[in-house]
Amino acid sequence: MEGEEFQLHNTMTKQKEPFRPRVPGKVGMYVCGVTAYDLSHIGHARVYVAFDVLYRYLKHLGYEVNYVRNFTDVDDKIIRRANELGEDPISLSARFCEEFLLDMADLQCLPPTVQPRVSDHIPQIIEMIQKIIDNGCAYVLEGDVYFSVDKSPDYGRLSGRKLEDNRAGERVAVDERKRNAADFALWKSAKPGEPTWDSPWGPGRPGWHIECSAMSSQYLGHAFDIHGGGMDLIFPHHENEIAQSCAACPESNVSYWVHNGFVTENKEKMSKSLGNFSRFVTERYHPLALRLFLMDTHYRSPVNYSEAQLESASDRLFYIYQTLHDCEATLSQFQDKPPNGRVTPDTKNCIDKFRRDVESSMANDLHTNDVLKDLWDPLKAMNALNSGKGGQKQQASRILSLIALEKEVKDVLTILGLISTSPCEVLLQLRNLALKRAQLTEEQLLQRVEERVAARKNKEYEKSDKIRNELAKLGIGLMDNDPRGRIWIPIVPPEKEAAAA
Ligand SMILES: [Zn+2]
Repeated sequence: MEGEEFQLHNTMTKQKEPFRPRVPGKVGMYVCGVTAYDLSHIGHARVYVAFDVLYRYLKHLGYEVNYVRNFTDVDDKIIRRANELGEDPISLSARFCEEFLLDMADLQCLPPTVQPRVSDHIPQIIEMIQKIIDNGCAYVLEGDVYFSVDKSPDYGRLSGRKLEDNRAGERVAVDERKRNAADFALWKSAKPGEPTWDSPWGPGRPGWHIECSAMSSQYLGHAFDIHGGGMDLIFPHHENEIAQSCAACPESNVSYWVHNGFVTENKEKMSKSLGNFSRFVTERYHPLALRLFLMDTHYRSPVNYSEAQLESASDRLFYIYQTLHDCEATLSQFQDKPPNGRVTPDTKNCIDKFRRDVESSMANDLHTNDVLKDLWDPLKAMNALNSGKGGQKQQASRILSLIALEKEVKDVLTILGLISTSPCEVLLQLRNLALKRAQLTEEQLLQRVEERVAARKNKEYEKSDKIRNELAKLGIGLMDNDPRGRIWIPIVPPEKEAAAA
């Protein structure tokens, strides 16, 4: 592992720390998954893109990563939704797990090593609850089991909350029978219309927090490297997880707690209202544009969602893929017989700087927003080389320089999860989405283009400018005299460009 040491921010210590896994070369990472009762929204997209980048980067550094991401398929919200729809809760949840996986594939999030579900781990959960009771840290009340926070001396260590400030956890109804208002349910006794399993305390189902303690220890052991999730999970979920895991097994430990920031709209946390579903966004913008938009802010800072920012991300994606596409076209003639020679000194400098910059941006707590900026110079260099001509000798070093730059850029796009096997395909998809947003068919657009050609021929410049401006407002840019023969490209409509600035 060359270069700078990877520094990862740890919520527990509230600072960046050098990343050193417990077992050299291996990383165990647990990320809290979705409660599957609906489609995933942009906040989910952000969490799983952020951890996908971490996963990809750790693999890039040469680590063997055991990445566990659970599905919560037993929960109040699922039961409520299932009852509304007259559906079995586990099957409703299974349906939304599948939808979630489609969204993740769309966003190019790599599948985790294991994706355990609560309903498949009830025996492990019961076993852990029993251990907590045996160790004197939980109590049984009429078929319910509660964790006793008073038995957890370090409670509040992760969130910085003091026990006396704590109200009952958000997902736990206030219960007068509890010994301390902050005590939370490990096991909930059976109620009509709920899925139940037999347990030593009677039929019932697990509380929310215990599943992650049970499943993380099953797949990663009691002590592992990284535990992640959205910032909203710090309290009560992760605080409670620490209390439970340590009560069941004193050796329990997570080395790095990693949390990502919210997605906000007009500076407020986005709620699950209509239109925030990630696939409603990807009906209008390319999934990789959504991914690029999310990575354009450091993972711990809030992302402010706006169409203008998505337009800008979409535009940058088009530029990246147009460059790769043009490069592919130039190199296709040399596929079997790369010329002899060496890359230009400028190219060598550009690549050296690019490598250094990307390494330090990523090693500095995953500054993907800086990496996206670092990409610009090599892309610009590729475009210059693509359009360049020259004698035989210059031609050889031009081609070798393009080959070298293309490889560097593709490697970095792979770490970011922005790579696609077919630049041509991505460009076509981006064009089709631009037409969709403009509410134009390709035929309608070409007809407008023809009208403009005719107007110019007749020297009706006012008319030709009008057509051009109207199309620009719709996000369609006309390319007069483009040597590559392109008639139009998607552009950011001027008003959105102003809003994004
Ligand atoms: Zn969890």
